[in-house]
Amino acid sequence: MKKIDVQSTRIPIYRDAAFFLSDEETIKKAFRDELDHPRSPEIYIYARYRNPTVVAVEEQIMALEECQWALLTQSGMSAIDVALSIFQKAEETGTWLFFSEIYGGTNSYIDRVLQFRRGINIKRFYPAGYRYDLGQLEKELAETKPQLVYFEAMSNPMLIVADCQSIISMAKKAGAVVLVDNTFATPYLWNPLQHGADIVVHSATKFLSGHNNITAGVLCGNDAQMEKDAIEYRKFVGHMLSADDAYRLGTQLRTFELRFGRHCQNAAQLAKTLADHEKIEKVLYPGLESHPTHNQAQRLFNGKGFGAMITFDIKGDTPEKKGQAARGFISAMSEHVPLVPTLGDTQTMLLHVESVWGDKYPLPGMIRLSVGIENYPELEAAFLNALDQIAIK
Ligand code: PLP
Repeated sequence: MKKIDVQSTRIPIYRDAAFFLSDEETIKKAFRDELDHPRSPEIYIYARYRNPTVVAVEEQIMALEECQWALLTQSGMSAIDVALSIFQKAEETGTWLFFSEIYGGTNSYIDRVLQFRRGINIKRFYPAGYRYDLGQLEKELAETKPQLVYFEAMSNPMLIVADCQSIISMAKKAGAVVLVDNTFATPYLWNPLQHGADIVVHSATKFLSGHNNITAGVLCGNDAQMEKDAIEYRKFVGHMLSADDAYRLGTQLRTFELRFGRHCQNAAQLAKTLADHEKIEKVLYPGLESHPTHNQAQRLFNGKGFGAMITFDIKGDTPEKKGQAARGFISAMSEHVPLVPTLGDTQTMLLHVESVWGDKYPLPGMIRLSVGIENYPELEAAFLNALDQIAIK
C-alpha cells in the first residue's frame, strides 16, 4: 500500500479497527508499551485499546483540565462508569457517598446498576434547602467512613454551587477518594483536580463539544495507577470513543474557551433581564446576588463567570395557571429557542422542569435554560416577545 505523507493542519482520523504490526519484535513492544507507557504508546494495536486520534484529543483536554491524564469514552455515562468502577474490588468495596443533587441519569445508574446489580453500599447526602450543610457532612463522613465521595460543582436544575474546596478537603481528610462531575462548571470556571479531587468526569456531549452533535465523555486525573486501571477497564468493557467522534470533538474544542466565555456573558445578561421582568416570579442564576449560593460561586469561579444555565419561574395565581403560562411561553419561544432535553449547545435551549423532574420538582411554572452564544440583542428580543404573548393571571 502506498503511504501518503502530508502535513495536515488537523488531527488525522485513524479509522483502523486494528493497526499494522510489522514483526514479532514490534508486537512484543506494543504489548509492553501498553502496560508501561499507557499515556504515549508508540505503537498501536487495536482501536478499542488505544487510538492515535483519540490520544491527540485527550491531550487537548489535559491542557484544559491541567492534569496528567484524560481518557475519552463514548458518553458521559460511560466516563462515569469507568471512573467509579475502578474503585470497585471484590470483597474490598466500602460505602460510596453520593451527593443527591446530581444528574438524574447518574442517580438512576447508582440505583439500578451500582446498588441493584452490583450490590454496592450507597449513601446519599442531601442539601438543607439550597445549601449543603458542612457540619452535617462532617458527621456523615465520620459515621459512614466512605471509600468514595461523588458530587457536582453546580446542581441541576436549582444551580446550587457547592462549597467544593471544603467538600474535597473534608472528604480527603476522612480518607475517601473524591470524584467530581464538572460538566456544568467546565474547566473554564474551575479545575477540581487543582483542589485535590482524584478524578473529574465530563459529559463532553455538552459544553466541551458544544454543538449538540457528538455523544462523548471524558475522565481526567493525575494518579498514574488510576490511569492504568481506567485504561484497562475502558478496554475490557469497550467504552472507547470512535476516531471520528474524537476528531470532531478535537476540532470543536478549539473554540471551547471562546464559546464558554460567550455562554456566560449571554446568560448573565439574560438572567438580569428576566429577573427584572414583571411576569417572572423568580430567577435562579448563580451570578445574581439573589441566588442563595452567589457568594460561593463568586469565590469558586474567581470572577470568571457563572455558567450558562438559568432556571426561572413564571408568575401565576395557582399551580395550574403557572403551568399554563409556562406552556404558553414555551410554545411562543419555539421558533427561536427549542425545547430540547440537553444543554451546552451554541443555540439556547429550554426545558420544562416539571415534565422532566416530575415528583422531585413539581414546579409547574419553572423553566430551565441552557443559554447559547447567539447575538445577545436578538436573543433578548425573542424572550421579551414571548413573555409579551403570555397571560399570567
Ligand atoms: N453528567 C451530567 C451533569 C449530565 O448533565 C449528563 C447528561 O445530561 C451526563 C453526565 C451524562 O452524559 P451523556 O449524556 O453524555 O452520557
